[in-house]
Amino acid sequence: MSFKELNIMEPIQKALNTEGYSKPTPIQKKAIPVLLEGKDLLGCAQTGTGKTAAFAIPILQGLATEQRSSSGRSQIKALIVVPTRELAIQISDSFNVYGRNLGLNTLVIYGGVSQHPQTKDLSRGVDILVATPGRLLDLINQKFINLKNIKYFVLDEADLMLDMGMLKDVRKIITYLPKVRQTMFFSATMPTEIGELANSILKDPIRIDITPVSSTVDIIEQEVYFVDKINKVNLLIHILKDKKIDSALVFSRTKHGANKIVTALEKAGLTAQAIHGNKSQNARQLALNNFKERKTRILIATDIAARGIDIEELSLVINFDLPEVPETYVHRIGRTGRAGLGGKAISFCDYEEKPLLQSIQRLIAKTIPEIKDHPYPLVDTTIKPKEKSSRRPSASKSFISNTPKAKSKDTKTGKIRREKLEGKPKQHTSKKNEQKKNVHWSNR
Ligand code: AMP
Repeated sequence: MSFKELNIMEPIQKALNTEGYSKPTPIQKKAIPVLLEGKDLLGCAQTGTGKTAAFAIPILQGLATEQRSSSGRSQIKALIVVPTRELAIQISDSFNVYGRNLGLNTLVIYGGVSQHPQTKDLSRGVDILVATPGRLLDLINQKFINLKNIKYFVLDEADLMLDMGMLKDVRKIITYLPKVRQTMFFSATMPTEIGELANSILKDPIRIDITPVSSTVDIIEQEVYFVDKINKVNLLIHILKDKKIDSALVFSRTKHGANKIVTALEKAGLTAQAIHGNKSQNARQLALNNFKERKTRILIATDIAARGIDIEELSLVINFDLPEVPETYVHRIGRTGRAGLGGKAISFCDYEEKPLLQSIQRLIAKTIPEIKDHPYPLVDTTIKPKEKSSRRPSASKSFISNTPKAKSKDTKTGKIRREKLEGKPKQHTSKKNEQKKNVHWSNR
């Protein structure tokens, strides 16, 4: 199916051609006809599926058609509310790209920066406004923004807004919208609160579910490295020293962890920057731009900061920590392998993370191949599952005293339990591990 068959107007088709889009993605095929008919939409989809064009194209087409009959300064007729500044900028860029031949004005507003340039731009007239909730509400309250002419309303990444505590602001914003409008609601997951919000603002919506799990995951080369927590940074440095890697996005579960990784990489002579919620908006944007422009080779990000970020030709994603929620793994690795391009995703897995890896593999319905040949193999299985007591285990449990050279035997089975230390230990067995006492080995 082509864009032409979707009844997309010539100037938009031309813009899509310029972008090199030859055919619509599955979400575009499903959503565009429904939206062109003026129906509400509930989309269970995430970034990487071509979701932005799926809602931007019908909005642009609708506005371009109506535009001819209107005159005077533009009023805001389309509002797109998103959780993060990065996503807002990206979406506004997409509107500019797909609408390049239409002469419509798109403006993006977000918090963390001075409002003055934004209010100045607003006063010139805007057709399409892309905004984060806090700043939008602020400017509505100060009467810089009036939403009474809105015809198209998009709420994107709603579940992330819930996570980020933005739903109160969002509900307030909705009270300023006209009752008659077309609403598009997107969320990667549908927790109860999000489902309720969707029900309350959509009218007879068409629901479209796009799970990129299989398609995205299938084209991405995935690998897992089993490694001790304390050796993860060393392994990261070892991998990133490979000059063939031109850019890598590294995911850290915590903001503090992200900073620590940057420091360690810098000490090793590798330039890296971090983006996370504790960084100012400007610092985040600068780091992201540097990365996109290839000024920085390595970007360390937390899930929230990276959600929705679209980086062209990102060849490598590294999961420094495995995510708690298996779906997040798919979101993360989906940064590479965009729109059908292949990519690579490497995951580090320490002993404690093994159950997380299992959940991920269950979700993607495949076993991620293990890279065994690396200098920091997992040797430390000292971390006990939480429910187990730290007291000396009973004789029936596997238990040895950890002397580095020891290949201890289970008193009952006689089996050697320190599988990883069998044979020749690899060079980087950590001293710290070696000094640990009362090591508890699990019966895996
Ligand atoms: P999104 O899910 O909107 O963030 O889009 C993911 C990526 O796919 C972006 O880099 C888009 O530029 C790209 N994209 C969107 N639609 C198409 C299409 N029909 N053909 C090729 N690439 C596309």
